[in-house]
Amino acid sequence: MSEIISQSGLRQLVADRIAAGTIVSGPTQVKPKLVLYAVLGSPDDLLLEGFVRPDNSIKECVFPKQEELYGYRIQGNNIELTDGLTNDDLTNDDAPVPKQLVVAARPCDAAALPILDHIFNWDFKDEFYNRRRAATTVVTLACDSHGENCFCTSVGLHPAAERGSDAMLFELGDGSYEVRCITDKGRALFDGKTEESDKVGRADAGPEKKFDPETVRAFVDQHFEDPFWSQHALTCVGCGVCAFTCPTCHCFDIVDAGPSAGNARYRTWDSCQFPMFTAHASGHNPRAGQPSRQRQRILHKFSIYPNKFGEILCTGCGNCTRNCPEGIGVLTVATEIDHG
Ligand code: SF4
Ligand code: SF4
Repeated sequence: MSEIISQSGLRQLVADRIAAGTIVSGPTQVKPKLVLYAVLGSPDDLLLEGFVRPDNSIKECVFPKQEELYGYRIQGNNIELTDGLTNDDLTNDDAPVPKQLVVAARPCDAAALPILDHIFNWDFKDEFYNRRRAATTVVTLACDSHGENCFCTSVGLHPAAERGSDAMLFELGDGSYEVRCITDKGRALFDGKTEESDKVGRADAGPEKKFDPETVRAFVDQHFEDPFWSQHALTCVGCGVCAFTCPTCHCFDIVDAGPSAGNARYRTWDSCQFPMFTAHASGHNPRAGQPSRQRQRILHKFSIYPNKFGEILCTGCGNCTRNCPEGIGVLTVATEIDHG
């Protein structure tokens, strides 16, 4: 037997969570041709069909674009923390972290969360990230179609992959969904909300495999200095959209906003595609142009991260190619490497 929920039942669940104070995010139509994951003000804002995937990712729910780490006051040689999450807060399990629910995430977004977990728990346990992550429940909607830039099957995933999800929804084609709970969080969320059925949901077969990641890895390891990178990066404008819309890119900067901006220390997203990312105080920049920055992005995803954590730093969502103003991205580069 399977468990099913109607679309109206799902929207009611969202309404109940919003009313209970949970921050609920999901795909929503923000402009005629733009679907983004965003905080839902109403269950009616949740978009469940008619698009391939949002143009951003759910990493924003656990790793915000900008977050205040703490405020501070400088008095002579003393610095006093004034607000934000202080060290005491970080060890206090009762300090408030809002509960979050992500609904109708794509499998390629959910699968990015365990990848990010490695990063934020490797040499230092990042409590800001960990506490948001612990407070977040992810309900994934299996894909019923794929776009031309999708390549999950090239990096070991597929449209029904469970990785990173607390529960999964599968379309039944009659306005309802099969619910498959994966974790205790998922089971708690759907407890008493589903009905038994003998129907089984469906998912898209996914895109054909488009490249072999081992071939890409071998190329980047053996072609650090290669004209390929200059040719490939000729049209890159260094906008960083590839990194900002990527579920797995995670680079950040720490900036101090001084007295005129309220004396606070912030963490903000950064990108290896920006010239300032590796600029030294001396003025020297070891990655002096877009070719070396593009090489770094591919090298990190297919060699550096896999060497350290045993998996590819990419879930095949296709956002970097889909959103790049020049059509560059992992799909474009990896396919070119593999097929010449
Ligand atoms: S690859 Fe595309 S999205 Fe990324 S920095 Fe270059 S132009 Fe921008
Ligand atoms: S590198 Fe590109 S395709 Fe891979 S997860 Fe990031 S945005 Fe998606």
